[in-house]
Amino acid sequence: MGVTGRTKIYAIFGYPVEHSFSPVMHNAAFAVMGLDCLYIPWAVKPEGFLVTLNALRRMENFGGGNVTIPHKERAAELCDELSEEAEALGAVNTLATAGGRLLGHNTDGKGFLHWLTQDVGFDPKGKKVLLLGAGGAARAVAFSLASARVAELVIANRTLGKAQALATGLQVKYQECQILALNLQIMSLVPVLTSADLVVNATSLGLRPADPLPAGCEHLSPMALVVDLIYNPQETIFLKKARARGCRTFNGLGMLLYQGALAFELWTRGKAPLEAMRKALHSFLDIPSPGGEQ
Ligand code: NDP
Repeated sequence: MGVTGRTKIYAIFGYPVEHSFSPVMHNAAFAVMGLDCLYIPWAVKPEGFLVTLNALRRMENFGGGNVTIPHKERAAELCDELSEEAEALGAVNTLATAGGRLLGHNTDGKGFLHWLTQDVGFDPKGKKVLLLGAGGAARAVAFSLASARVAELVIANRTLGKAQALATGLQVKYQECQILALNLQIMSLVPVLTSADLVVNATSLGLRPADPLPAGCEHLSPMALVVDLIYNPQETIFLKKARARGCRTFNGLGMLLYQGALAFELWTRGKAPLEAMRKALHSFLDIPSPGGEQ
């Protein structure tokens, strides 16, 4: 479908933004639903974010959008209203509009959990989880896993204070879950690695080939499910080593898909065409089979 005078504009705001796969996924969804909508990447530097959001409030054909690095937290401060998730996380990944007001949502955690339970078939209830990282994505994953009633959640981060703050905030809300903060140091992680049912890398270690591993794979239980939220590269060295150890491994493409589907549903109030979105991502990445499993 071409652009018309009635086309509604959606966008992802980030800096940089050129690595984003969201335009591929959302334009495929709009096309298959026959919607006169266009989703574009919008590169905005931090100093331009406030003026951008103010302008969006005045744009009658702005339908909604996504927010990525480095704007997620600033967006939570600037939106007119926040969903419960966005409020709890202090971060917005999805913008919706209502009468010139900007509504901030966060679909990252729910997207992760939908994918984990529905596509992977992993029920977090009662499980032991090691979460590497305490940044925006880790916070979303941590809240979703605690809400799914994991038995034990260990949060390991380079900056221990951030892991401790996240653990403390979660413990108040989810008292039945045992939550512990650790430093991201290989030795302190060994006992956790050997007993974890699920290990999630939510650090940005692995984006570059020269990055060190976020944790030592030789201590992983081969029974563990290992997830790296990174999807580009499709298989980080961490995932490759975990797979060699015998673990089931997944990249972050499934989370990307489901957080996008939830955003689409907030914008259109209709069901997202999940398979069309998945197919668009896979054909863009030249992946033959569905699932994201390595
Ligand atoms: P943030 O910048 O908020 O967090 C980055 C995290 O990585 C922090 O825990 C940080 O630790 C850690 N980190 C960064 N560099 C190092 C290093 N050299 N050594 C040790 N730890 C390090 O980013 P996000 O949380 O938004 O993103 C994290 C990852 O998740 C990225 O790779 C991103 O691509 C991916 N992601 C995937 C999504 C998906 O849909 N699949 C959605 C969102 C993100 P510290 O606190 O000490 O700085």
